[in-house]
Amino acid sequence: MNPSTTRELPLSAAQLGFWYASLRSGGQRNETVAEYLDIRGRVDRELIGAALRRVVNEADAVRARIVECDGEPVQLIPDEVEPEIEFLDLSTADAPESAAEEWMRRARNEEMDVTGPVLSSFALIKLADDRYFWYQRVHHIALDGYGGAIFTARLGEVYTSLVNGEQPAQSEWEPLDTLVAEDAAYRGSDEFTADREFWLDRFHHRDEPVRMAAGAHKGPSWDFLREAATLSPETAAELNAAARRMKTSWSALAIALVVVYVHRVTGAENVTIGLTATGRKSAAARRSPGTAATIMPVRCEIRPETSLAEAVRLISREVRQGLRHQRFRHEDLLRELGRVGGGPLYGPLVNIASFGQTLSFADHEVTSHNLLNGPVEDLFVSIYDMGAERGLTLHVNANPAAYSEAEVALHRDRLVELLTQIATADPDLPVRDLELRGEAEQQAPPPGHDGAFKERRRSTIPELFAAAVAATPEASALTCGAETVSYRELDARSNRLANHLLAGGAGGAESVVALAFPRSVELVVAILGVLKSGAAYLPLDTAHPEERVYDVLDQARPTLVLRPEDLAESDRFPDTAPDVRVAPENTAYVIYTSGSTGRPKGVMIPHQNLVRLLDATEDWYGFGPGDVWTLFHSPAFDFSVWEIFGALLTGGRLVVVPFEVSRSPGDFLTLLERERVTVLNQTPSAFYRLMEADRERGGADLALRSVVFGGEALEPGVLEGWYERHADDAPVLVNMYGITEITVHASYAAFDRASAAGARGSVIGTAVPDLGLQVLDAALRPVPVGVAGELYVSGPGLARCYQGRPGLTAERFVACPFGAPGERMYRSGDLARWRPDGGLEYLGRTDDQVQLRGFRVELGEVEAVLVRHPAVVHAVVVVREDRLG
Ligand code: AMP
Ligand code: MG
Repeated sequence: MNPSTTRELPLSAAQLGFWYASLRSGGQRNETVAEYLDIRGRVDRELIGAALRRVVNEADAVRARIVECDGEPVQLIPDEVEPEIEFLDLSTADAPESAAEEWMRRARNEEMDVTGPVLSSFALIKLADDRYFWYQRVHHIALDGYGGAIFTARLGEVYTSLVNGEQPAQSEWEPLDTLVAEDAAYRGSDEFTADREFWLDRFHHRDEPVRMAAGAHKGPSWDFLREAATLSPETAAELNAAARRMKTSWSALAIALVVVYVHRVTGAENVTIGLTATGRKSAAARRSPGTAATIMPVRCEIRPETSLAEAVRLISREVRQGLRHQRFRHEDLLRELGRVGGGPLYGPLVNIASFGQTLSFADHEVTSHNLLNGPVEDLFVSIYDMGAERGLTLHVNANPAAYSEAEVALHRDRLVELLTQIATADPDLPVRDLELRGEAEQQAPPPGHDGAFKERRRSTIPELFAAAVAATPEASALTCGAETVSYRELDARSNRLANHLLAGGAGGAESVVALAFPRSVELVVAILGVLKSGAAYLPLDTAHPEERVYDVLDQARPTLVLRPEDLAESDRFPDTAPDVRVAPENTAYVIYTSGSTGRPKGVMIPHQNLVRLLDATEDWYGFGPGDVWTLFHSPAFDFSVWEIFGALLTGGRLVVVPFEVSRSPGDFLTLLERERVTVLNQTPSAFYRLMEADRERGGADLALRSVVFGGEALEPGVLEGWYERHADDAPVLVNMYGITEITVHASYAAFDRASAAGARGSVIGTAVPDLGLQVLDAALRPVPVGVAGELYVSGPGLARCYQGRPGLTAERFVACPFGAPGERMYRSGDLARWRPDGGLEYLGRTDDQVQLRGFRVELGEVEAVLVRHPAVVHAVVVVREDRLG
């Protein structure tokens, strides 16, 4: 090319944004816009070639090539180029349309480097004599969506003239210089300063935007899932009419619906979506095929009781105000907020565009279809106006690292439902009452696990233990260091204690005996002894602060507090089973839990609750005499109940883990190896430390069959390191969600390497078969799939009550609207949601997820913040300023 016919221009801010993003990603980001025209008629190859040549030579940006000069990028614009068109004839293929789509899917992902010689590619695809696709892909640094639309419109116009043998009308486009100069002037202007202030004022709070995806933000993906739908011209017309009634535009209404949708799904009262804006405020800029578009964050406060009309009004106002400041670029805002590389300020992104009105292609019917808009961070909802005869097209593009196909389809169906509903909805309707579920969902029963009855024994712990003793009296029941205790011996020692307690008047049903023991053989003897005496045991954690232990004793008023030294006195009592009557409904243990806040409360659990837990989970685990368990947890934490009786009621061996060993992951790992432990129960945080010790050791030699997680949220993705080292001997890793009040466990989710890696969010799975799980809103209505609500548990795992606290019992154990009359359910205080696969995902505590309502009163150093969440009552929290950032 002759250099004298090439001119040089600096890059606009928008172009620089793409340039630096591309450099940062090492060219890994597919920052291109691809689309195709579906042309219902014959296209002349010669003439389309001539038309493209003419239009490319009118559109400076499409001819530009970016080079680095003294470390600065500049664009070189040749006066004339000869664009290439790939021609494909698929008319003889079996299914020309899908063959063409497949080709375009591949083509849109081909590398197109920002430093490369060509920033565009074009293809004409023949599907039949009278049907062609026009494919085009242009780097975002050259054209944005708006630029692409005016480019294809002009291409159609020129082609039409050529087909008609006419001279095409002169282009009205501005040279690229206009856009670049306008941008440079803007960045030195007062308007720029004002815009900057506007956005900093709106986003100084640095809140993380709410997303509907499970788990942590994944970063942008250039591959995406897409679900599409169309809305009929009638629905589009109704939407227009509804918008007019609400004194706004259909596009503002559509944007508002996306915001309302995010609010309804997440329960968040502060929602920020992104909105694509053209970044063009002057008529000259609108005549410029180039890149100027940006993303404008739109932040709104919505509450469940906000009316539809009010929500639309608020959101339209936000959008209108934002658009006045749209030239201030999102990447500049991120930089000012110190968030570069930290993810955008918005959750889902919304794009409203108009396609079709100005397109003419000879006399053929032609529709435009977007193929790619650049990388997808989270969810990207595009609504295209396809013209009066075709209605609207909805595309929901999603980051595959964050959403499953089923989830994307669900979001699409629901957005269609909302867009359809809005046309006839009462504007005064509170947004909480909008129907969220798509058509198919409304036909299906609400999600939930109904706790179908499972055959189970009626029994007590002493009865089942006696059976285990009778089956294998000489087998080892307990190991602690060098000491081993057989079933026969454990039976005898606990019988002596039981007889001792009965002789002293401390035994008998519903009597409570407190135990102040460290983890030891004696602890297990004491637990069994108390149960055999008919009494319930109350474990005290000897590591807890003294006040807490006294508070528990104060509330529980046990008949007796037993200490290790008291056991010696039992030696003179007979080692035969005492004769006491204990019913399955009698209390077996009382565990005091504090929850996250508040005074410890004593949860009273009957024998039968534990018996049925073992029966209900048997098909999953099949625990038996071959199993070796650890007693790792404090007896005051109900994970220990599962450890002790899981082992001793199924003939297994229980290895007592002394306190110091439980605190040293390396020593514990050695114990697991040495004792050939097969069943391990861990909180995720303890297991992550164990994983670290295992990694340092290069993978321990383990005999594990099952690892059961519980007590706190698991991040399944973190387990990958474990699978890496235990590819062959990997035990089944299981997450069980549980609460003391429902007897240890309520749900089950088993992972293998692939499902752990692919899990998004903290999957807690399905219900223990005889329990019911429901996710309910504040009005106790089941929420649809994917919508956050509070988790409730019903069924035969429920505790009898809180010891001596009838008021608190009535508050937490409430009437179950789904079960038989009189049935109760436990209100967990946890947020969860159903996934399309029928499993549950844990989202946190209701009180952790409260949304700051932005209502702040400064009181010197102290601020009052009004906190609300649909699943929580109001609360006023006082926070110090320095705690807020
Ligand atoms: P607690 O009654 O002391 O056992 O505590 C029960 C609480 O622990 C539940 O309400 C949850 O908040 C949390 N929890 C228990 N198991 C899990 C789990 N698998 N995933 C997430 N949180 C859990
Ligand atoms: Mg628990």
